[in-house]
Parts: sequence; C-alpha cells; structure tokens
Amino acid sequence: MEPLFQSTSLVQRAFWLVRLRWLAIATLAISAFAAREFFKISLPAQQLNILVIVLAVYNFLLYDLLKYLTWGGKNPSHKTISRMITFQISADLFILTAILHFSGGIENPFFFYFVFHMVIASILLTPRQSYLQATLALLLFGSLIFLEYNGTIPHYKLTGFVSHELYGDSLFVFGTFFVFATTLYLVVYMTTSISALLRERQQDYEQANQLLKQKDRLKNEYVLRLTHDIRGHLAAIESCLDIVNNRITGELNEKQADMIERALRRTSKCMMFVNALLKLTRMKMGGALELSFVPLKNIFFNTIAAVENKAEAKSIDLKYRIDDSIGEAEIYVEPVLIEEAISNLLLNAIKYTPEKGKVQLSAADQGDNILIEVSDTGIGVPPEEIDRLFEEFYRATNARKIERDGTGLGLSIVKQVIERHGGKVWAQNNPDGGSTFSFTLPKPPQETEKSPAS
Ligand code: ADP
Repeated sequence: MEPLFQSTSLVQRAFWLVRLRWLAIATLAISAFAAREFFKISLPAQQLNILVIVLAVYNFLLYDLLKYLTWGGKNPSHKTISRMITFQISADLFILTAILHFSGGIENPFFFYFVFHMVIASILLTPRQSYLQATLALLLFGSLIFLEYNGTIPHYKLTGFVSHELYGDSLFVFGTFFVFATTLYLVVYMTTSISALLRERQQDYEQANQLLKQKDRLKNEYVLRLTHDIRGHLAAIESCLDIVNNRITGELNEKQADMIERALRRTSKCMMFVNALLKLTRMKMGGALELSFVPLKNIFFNTIAAVENKAEAKSIDLKYRIDDSIGEAEIYVEPVLIEEAISNLLLNAIKYTPEKGKVQLSAADQGDNILIEVSDTGIGVPPEEIDRLFEEFYRATNARKIERDGTGLGLSIVKQVIERHGGKVWAQNNPDGGSTFSFTLPKPPQETEKSPAS
C-alpha cells in the first residue's frame, strides 16, 4: 500500500514523535511529583525517576540517530524511517507498561494513553503494522494486569487515590481488559480507515495535478509555436509595408499613404502583442535562471536610462531612491529579467500618469527581503479591479478609456519574473492619488557563499 507520507514528511513525523516524547517525559515527571507532593498519593519515586531518566536517554539517542540519518540534507529511505517509527512506538508501549506497573497498574487511569500510540501508529504505519502494535499493547497490558492479579509480580498501590483493591477484583480486571481490547482495535480500525481515505484523496489530487501540469505544458508549447509563426508572418508584412511606405516602389497618393501608415501602425501593435505573448510563454516554460550578483544601483541606472526619454516627453518628474542601508547592496538575480520587470512597471507608471506628474522608483531594506516600489501620481486603479491586474490580458476600465493600446500582458510578465526569483508582487492605490506597484526580492546568500572557491 502507498505510504500516506513521503519519506521526507515521514522524517518530519519521526522528529515530531521525538518532540512529543519530550512533552510526555515532562508530563510524567511533573505528574509524579504533583501526585506525591500535593495529592499525597504514594508512588515509588526511585523506580519512576529511573524510568524518566531511561526515557530521556532513549529520546536523546533517537534524536541523534535521526539527525545523523538526515545530516547534510540526506533523505533516508522510507523503509528505514518506517522501521524506526515502528521501533519507537513498540518501545514506548513497553515503557508505558513499566510506568503503569510502578504506579498502580490497572488502577491508574493513565492506561488510556495506549490509545494515543494506536492513533499515531495508524497514521504513520500501514494498517497491518498498526494492528500488530495494538496486539502488542494488548499483550503488554494484559500481562501486566493478569500477573498483578494472580500475584506473580507485585502490585504498587496508589494509596490516596484508590481505596479498593481493584487489581484483584476479577470482574473489574476482565471487564477492563475487554473494554481495553475493543477500544484499541476499534481506534486502529477507525483511524486506518480515515488514513486510507486520505491516502486515496492525496493520490487523486497528485494525479490531477500532474495532468494539469501536462496540459499547461502542451498549451504553452502550442502558444509558443503559434506566436512564433505569426511573428514571422508579421515581420514579413511589416517589411513589405515599410518598402511601400518609404516610396521605394514608387510615389503614393495621399489616400494610399494614409492607408499604408494605418496598416503599419496596426502591424506594429500586433507585433508588440505577439512579442509580449512570446516572452510570457517562454518565461513560463523557461528552465533554470542564470543568476549572478549585480549591484542594485546598476539595475536602477539601466532601467531609468531606458525610460527617461518617455518621461521627458510627458514632462514627468522621474526620480529614484535607494535606502542608505542597502545603497551598496548586490542582488542575486538574472539581471536582464529584473531590469525588464522594473522597466515594465516604470513604463506603465509613465503611460498612466498625466503630463507633469511624478514617478518614483525606490528600494528599501526589509530584513530578509529587498522591497522595490514604483509609485506614481497617475490615474490609479478602480479598487474593485486591483486584484485582477496581474491576470493575463486584464486591463482596468479606466486604463482602457485613456489608452487604447495595451496588451494586458506586461504585469503578467512582471509577476512571472518576480515569482521565479522567489519574490512577491502586488499593487495598491496611494491615499493621495496614483498607485504603487511593489515587489520583493529575497536577499542574496551570504558573502561566503558567493565564491566557494575563494
Ligand atoms: P497594459 O499596460 O499593456 O494594459 P499591463 O499588464 O502592463 O498591460 O497592465 C495591466 C493593467 O494594469 C493596465 O491595463 C492598467 O489597467 C493597470 N495598470 C498598470 N500599471 C498601472 C499604473 N501605473 N497606474 C494605473 N493602472 C495601471
């Protein structure tokens, strides 16, 4: 049967068991102390203290073993971890039985704690292993109460808690054993059934996910091929129109010149759209990023230089600012892509800001991340549409009214670029008008990791 947890998450569960055990050890030590000191219940302190120490040493060793097995990112096999968990649960059952023996046997209500082990076993192990654990628990608890009942082993009384000699009452012992046995098997039955259901759901989900990924890949391949072909045809049309427009094929009358110009304009818009779609699709299908360390300043210079003509043409005041604390910072990115993302945001800001407005590019330190923002004094975004801006082809209603040309793909490209670099991107309106488009970039690895050879 398929495991419910992959080996990496099973390792996490194994660590979780170790943490749970620390909690159990603390609970045992505190409750034994409280029972003796505050409730005046007689308990064999020495034996219980020895058990607490044994449990603590055993847990330390388990922790060390797990650390060793996973050291340096190693991923132990599913079988190894599963065996380790089986061993842990069995050992816990023995220790719990020993604790019960020294603290009242059947008269100690903590025997219910066997149920926790059954739940844990049913979640982490196969149904067969879980039923085996239930049988082991039953054998251990059964031996304990029957051996105490017939006097083969001593009974440690919980004087101060139970006044009757319940451990010697046959009806009580048999009755409790019967209820205990049915409870354990029922718990295992119910929990393993739920786990099996979860396992099935998980498999369905993983299959559906695989199918979606495959379909998405096919769609991207299809779009890539199509846009590539269209771009070839468009380039051919554009160059023919250029030749005619440049009067190489002869003079044009006014009407003909107007038609050719319109055709050229439409072709270049089409070309812009196809290029954006091609870029976005390539980005989605792209392999690993070609990362390098670049000064943030350089990226800012390059992007500002690339767009300042457009800002000047609209008399827009274009500024940039980098927080002093990261003034000399380097970022670990694919520079061409990040410059493209920032240029896209700046070009949008210039496009959607009326003449004589302001656009600012800024960078701030955010601890683990660098926050980069482009804010403007432009038209802003209708609040109910702000969450849709990063969807492919989406253009807000106010933007469509003032600027007919636009692909609605620029922000999707920005989102792809930033998310592939491990950052986040979002937009918000400024309280005093205009909007701010922000994104984060994780800070680069430490200096020492930059050049492992040095
Ligand atoms: P395009 O600008 O080609 O329409 P984008 O994907 O770059 O496509 O932007 C999507 C939409 O986001 C725009 O149509 C516009 O509605 C909105 N938008 C982007 N930048 C700004 C901005 N600086 N101010 C106001 N709206 C913006």
